[in-house]
Amino acid sequence: GLDWGSLVAFDNVAAGHDGVMSDASGSLIIKPCVAAEVDFYEVCNAEHPDFAQLMPTFMGSLQRGQSKELQGHLTAASGPGGSGAIVLPAALDKEKEENSINSAEAKNPLRGKRLETEVAIVLENVLAGFKKPNFVDVKLGSRLWADDAPLAKRAKLDEVASQTTSGSLGFRIAGMKIWQPEGSGEYKVFDKFYGRQLTSENVKDAFSALVGLDQKTEAPGVVKEVITNLEEAVGSIEHIIASQESRMYSASLLFVYEGDPHARKEAIDAAVAQTAQDHADASVDKAQAKTGQGDEEDDEEDEDDEHTGPKLFDIKMIDFAHASWTPGQGPDENMLAGIRSVRKQYRDDDETEPSIV
Ligand code: ADP
Ligand code: MN
Repeated sequence: GLDWGSLVAFDNVAAGHDGVMSDASGSLIIKPCVAAEVDFYEVCNAEHPDFAQLMPTFMGSLQRGQSKELQGHLTAASGPGGSGAIVLPAALDKEKEENSINSAEAKNPLRGKRLETEVAIVLENVLAGFKKPNFVDVKLGSRLWADDAPLAKRAKLDEVASQTTSGSLGFRIAGMKIWQPEGSGEYKVFDKFYGRQLTSENVKDAFSALVGLDQKTEAPGVVKEVITNLEEAVGSIEHIIASQESRMYSASLLFVYEGDPHARKEAIDAAVAQTAQDHADASVDKAQAKTGQGDEEDDEEDEDDEHTGPKLFDIKMIDFAHASWTPGQGPDENMLAGIRSVRKQYRDDDETEPSIV
């Protein structure tokens, strides 16, 4: 279970507000947020399972300042998908929290202002399971404000969009961290100003950096395969969003890619082996379909084969402070335009070859 006494400041963010925490094991993050974001996660988990699988797993929420006695059993009651409000632990009271954050803040240029809120959301840490995760926050949409935004905020966000790829491409790089395996063994940090000065001509560089193309550790054929897989993963996100009626403003795609060369090689080898196995299974299934053979035991084995190897990449949608379901309004073209042009970054102009190579 979660050890409430040992929450730590979570430094591995690409962008956004200050104050994200993590549990000691690093498998969960605790993010201060507006109540509307918790509501959106709850509705998605209850009513929109296709979309919920694109989000980090929702573990529950924390509310500041409720009675301490409740803490024990509310903690016990919260499992994956749990939606009970959990009492914010004493370790997170404002003074201590600010102390721990302020020391980390000095080192991290990717953090913004602290959010004024009494609520925090508990989520799966999407970076967990990677040895040295490379990650990039891709902020989607050319329109970045919701209907309830004041005029001054609309004007400010429109101004930033007009000067960046948000306006020209429907997305921009909000922040990025890339592991440097050579030399110092440190992360190279790209802040929001890096993303703002990228253009439609060179924004591909960010996607190349994510998969460590400059490090040239993989054979070209493997790289091509990986890029195809990334493109397909973005494509399936596109299809889910195209089939739903929602509006999301300033939401992001969080891309994660293994940055450690050895772990990356293991993950690629496992994926290649898995593909070969899938092909073999498919031809066996075909033969069995013809002869009418094959039983349920085989199907169970097939399921056991899935998702056992080390992770190469993951893509999740995050940041739902300004998201809602809007039945009757049709698909979210603002989001879709951004996702389609992200997808294009992985294709050549003739759309037959991967393009970030
Ligand atoms: P904000 O409203 O502050 O922009 P976000 O949801 O965008 O909030 O989160 C800020 C940053 O925290 C993101 O850029 C990302 O790097 C990191 N982050 C958010 N959610 C997760 C998660 N579930 N797992 C790992 N990192 C996350
Ligand atoms: Mn964000």
